[in-house]
Amino acid sequence: MSELNPKTKFIFITGGVVSSLGKGLASASLASILQSRGFKVRLRKLDPYLNVDPGTMSPFQHGEVFVTDDGTEADLDLGHYERFSGVSARKSDSTTTGKIYQRVIDRERHGDYLGATIQVIPHVTNEIKEFIVSDLSDEDFVLCEIGGTVGDIEGQPYLEAIRQLAYELGRERTMFVHLTLLPYIPTAGELKTKPTQHSVKKLQEYGIQPDVLLCRSQIAIPENERRKIALFCNIREDNVIAALDVSNIYQVPLSYSKEGMDKAVCRYFNIPTPDADLSKWEKIVETVKAPEGEVRIAVVGKYVKLLEAYKSLHEALNHGGIANKYKVKIKWIDSETLTKENSDELLSDVSGILVPGGFGARGTEGKIEAVRYARENKVPFFGICFGMQMAVIETMRNVLGIKNANTTELDENCEAVIGLMTEWDKDGAKQYRHKDGDLGGTMRLGAYDSVLKDGSKISQIYGSTNISERHRHRYEVNIKYKSQLAQGGLIISGTSPDGKLPETVERPDHPWFIGVQYHPELKSKPFDPHPLFVDFVKASIEKSRLV
Ligand code: GLN
Repeated sequence: MSELNPKTKFIFITGGVVSSLGKGLASASLASILQSRGFKVRLRKLDPYLNVDPGTMSPFQHGEVFVTDDGTEADLDLGHYERFSGVSARKSDSTTTGKIYQRVIDRERHGDYLGATIQVIPHVTNEIKEFIVSDLSDEDFVLCEIGGTVGDIEGQPYLEAIRQLAYELGRERTMFVHLTLLPYIPTAGELKTKPTQHSVKKLQEYGIQPDVLLCRSQIAIPENERRKIALFCNIREDNVIAALDVSNIYQVPLSYSKEGMDKAVCRYFNIPTPDADLSKWEKIVETVKAPEGEVRIAVVGKYVKLLEAYKSLHEALNHGGIANKYKVKIKWIDSETLTKENSDELLSDVSGILVPGGFGARGTEGKIEAVRYARENKVPFFGICFGMQMAVIETMRNVLGIKNANTTELDENCEAVIGLMTEWDKDGAKQYRHKDGDLGGTMRLGAYDSVLKDGSKISQIYGSTNISERHRHRYEVNIKYKSQLAQGGLIISGTSPDGKLPETVERPDHPWFIGVQYHPELKSKPFDPHPLFVDFVKASIEKSRLV
């Protein structure tokens, strides 16, 4: 660890009592307020599950798969990190037990352990520690979030690893933050502290003494309860901090700062600094609280029963709303339920239609129907990844009359306007895939450049003809259909730099009809909203004024 910058400090964030307390958002918010005090931060996520990455996990179970510029498929918490801190996450910011064990086993096969018996301690824990301290430069704070809840069997090696790191680096460079829940019992009119006490006891069993308790709570923590928690958990009273429920996520950094979270960190590490300047968050909260109007936009997708599956998309639409000083009201429509017969009933009350990314056959006909409705009724349409592919199929079928046009993802014997890509260029080198190859980590992943046609609507929106956006897909529109699609009114307005892969499509005969093969939602941030979302929401607002 000698290469570590001596000023870099580590904050470990664990969770207790129940899952889904919002550790990701808590970590991102803490990072953001530390940034507001002028510190350089980095955020990392360690997920104890055995999958190598969440890429092959069902969005219904695990929510969205976030993709970094360098092509890592990661937990959606990395999305919170990027949106709140503006720091682009990298491969070295996300790991899982699957990845850690894969490395240990690779090393064992390679003979690196010189005949030793390979054990969780020290081999797995060493690998975890190496991950935590790797690929850093001059960060002031590295925030490491441990997934899961304290007490989970698979989380134990992580707790042991961070305990060891705190011992090795010294407590003056390491801090433990524990996020818990203080349940409110209405009949007693009280916040209950016992689950938090138990959770801290569990951490102490692993040799970890938390320094700050961040307590999710519906109401302010009364003095008495705060004292009790402090005494029983061995924590300074002013380090028992309320993480109060707030009406929108942009309030979280403001609320933490008000409750003294960043002060607690600076006090712990003995760094005197002026108060954080949080005016940018205040401005956002003001806009969200008092929008000038509301616009309804339909998102027609397959995973609408678990909205976490569309986390970044939801956020990006909100960012587009904030930029226009409007509230975006999303109407989530299960694409399986949408048909030609009910499309009017389901879509006539929205001013914009978005078909997001997706995989597999279920609900595709409904998505194609949504595209038809938007095209014919001149409702602003935004197709993302699978959504763009559906828009291409819709033109082929409904405008050009090629009824068996489809993607080979769904039908091997179709008129394959969209097909499997088995080779493409990445940074000057060829990438190859086989149709029977592994599913995990083998898509076209991460940032790729695209060249947009001069004068196209999309290039005007970006204000540039050269862009870079994040990808996550296996299939591509076949460029050989370019002129046929143009006859159907759909222009390929952007391609890969070699001109082989269509990246964007648009309809010049429509007020706002754009499809993109990449995922622009992954790069949108509250302080840097993605231009496509800003413009799509703007067009939707204009449409709403027409009716
Ligand atoms: N299933 C499509 C493909 O693999 C689209 C993927 C997506 O929408 N992310 O190409």
